[in-house]
Amino acid sequence: MELFETLGKMGHEQVVAFNHKATGLKAFVAIHDTTLGPALGGCRMWPYQSEEEALIDVLRLSRGMTYKASVAGLNLGGGKAVLIGDPEKDKSEELFRALGRFIGSLGGRYITAEDVGTNVEDMDYIYMETDRVVGVHKVHGGSGDPSPYTAFGTLQGIKACLQKKYGHDDPGKVSFAVQGVGHVGFYLTKYLSEAGAKVFVCDINEARVERAVEDLGAEAVAMDQIYDVDAQVFAPCALGGVINEDTVPRLKFDIVAGSANNQLESDDWGTKLEERGILYAPDYAINAGGLINVAIELQGYDQDRAFRTVGTIYNIIRQIFKIAERDGIPSWQAADRLAEERIAAIAGVRRFYSQRFKDRLSGRRPHTTDTNGH
Ligand code: NAD
Repeated sequence: MELFETLGKMGHEQVVAFNHKATGLKAFVAIHDTTLGPALGGCRMWPYQSEEEALIDVLRLSRGMTYKASVAGLNLGGGKAVLIGDPEKDKSEELFRALGRFIGSLGGRYITAEDVGTNVEDMDYIYMETDRVVGVHKVHGGSGDPSPYTAFGTLQGIKACLQKKYGHDDPGKVSFAVQGVGHVGFYLTKYLSEAGAKVFVCDINEARVERAVEDLGAEAVAMDQIYDVDAQVFAPCALGGVINEDTVPRLKFDIVAGSANNQLESDDWGTKLEERGILYAPDYAINAGGLINVAIELQGYDQDRAFRTVGTIYNIIRQIFKIAERDGIPSWQAADRLAEERIAAIAGVRRFYSQRFKDRLSGRRPHTTDTNGH
């Protein structure tokens, strides 16, 4: 890979490689864009087959975080850390403390969090060395399991979709197909059932399906049938890539709005959804509740503030649809545009104020000569 060419194309500010011989730590941290604030993004631990694979992942994921934080209205930029290693075998206190010291050395430009392969205990080790970590244990001011917030945010996004499609935002008047009733899917099904909605569910895990049926009154369907269910809203809450060549022609839903990351196998499938008249809530915007919740830790965690801020996802999704209409583009593209416009606007404000600051400074500079020529 031509590193600087790639960084130039993707817009990254900084990539750091950390190597700690004693613990075997090998990590990349990528800081994509800090216009809005310090770069925040999880720390992924994965047995990458090559350094290049790890580097590509950290670049891709950190860029995604810039867009997600921007759309969510947070004063944060996008960053990510990847640790090369097997989370089942290679974890240790020393390793995460070494990473914590490295993250501390970045002077606050990057804030880490849990991600695939890491957990709250690992974050606590990092926290022993630096406070530039969120998602720590509740006793350290952490916010706990993010999934209820992600589900609540997804519900707000669904309401915005209902408003756009039907002119009301009452989930109780609508039926749903929820794919995956794990952490987020279960809470979402609970919110929808409590609102009086009919909810169909599926999961590869039978016990989770049973729990949703028994505790929440959902109706179970076979995994492959979830795409054909006669319901108005499809909420993917399991895997990425489910909106693809095989599924798009089958879907009879009016709306696709769920928590799963990377729902579109490629952007084209988002465009195809729109062409079929199916409204799509861009995944990284509708599922930002967990990020918003964890970001509140930086201000001193407050649960009421977290729910209130996650509630803004309703307006964010509406704004995306407005941009889509304004510019005649699909919603997935409108989300990117919203993120980019906010960054450009705030960069403009920063430039304006830094110029004013400079002007004030120069105005105050003592004159070397006075009017009398001394
Ligand atoms: P989870 O692992 O708790 O739940 C996923 C569920 O999907 C599991 O019950 C699993 O058995 C099921 N599943 C897996 N493959 C399936 C398939 N082919 N068909 C049907 N069900 C299948 O994960 P989660 O935390 O609930 O996250 C769900 C999705 O939302 C993921 O894509 C995740 O990246 C995304 N997300 C989660 C959060 C969060 O706060 N947890 C935040 C943002 C995005």
